[in-house]
Amino acid sequence: MGSIVLFGPPGAGKGTQAQRIMEHSGLPQVSTGDMLRAAVKAGSKVGVEAKRYMDEGALVPDSVILALIKERMLEPDASGGVMFDGFPRTIPQAESLSELAEISHVLAIDVPDERIVERICGRVACGNCGAVYHDSFNPVPSSGCTCGKYDEKRRADDNETTVRKRLEAYHQQTAPLAAWYTARGLFHSVDGDRDIPAITADLLALLE
Ligand code: AMP
Repeated sequence: MGSIVLFGPPGAGKGTQAQRIMEHSGLPQVSTGDMLRAAVKAGSKVGVEAKRYMDEGALVPDSVILALIKERMLEPDASGGVMFDGFPRTIPQAESLSELAEISHVLAIDVPDERIVERICGRVACGNCGAVYHDSFNPVPSSGCTCGKYDEKRRADDNETTVRKRLEAYHQQTAPLAAWYTARGLFHSVDGDRDIPAITADLLALLE
């Protein structure tokens, strides 16, 4: 198996599913959103530039993203393939990716727009272990996160105004990748408007 692309709108559950698939496949998760948030937190040059776009719910320029990905793919753990989460998001990104890694599956998680806003607006993560929860749909256990050191984190861009802009960017710039990958015989989609384990089961079946 080569690398996998997890595809879908913001809030589809790509990060949640990436963690669950990682337990089965061993492929490391490569999330450009997580890499950008780390750069913003560190106050690096990339972080300062990216933050303007992220706060607006717009896509960060391809050149910035591709520089990050090229560097990440040089790390030893990427040599056996990775699971991309939130990348590629434009046709030029996909074109460059095809020169950097062999993609064996593009797995799309379908969630209708009207469900996205409610899903994103209650989203919360544990800053200690990265587990993703949702206030209504997947609450943090009453005993706290399973890692034992719950550290509640909410994303600055998980608010309704920004989510609507992120959805617009998705439809205009990212959704055309579905046809691009279909033409290459790599695209598969699952209904993402269901329980988390049901979605994982379908994704794992597609990988077998
Ligand atoms: P995510 O965590 O994937 O929802 O990404 C959060 C934000 O980071 C997005 O709204 C974009 O501003 C930026 N971003 C993440 N990945 C990419 C990408 N592949 N291309 C452009 N912008 C990205």
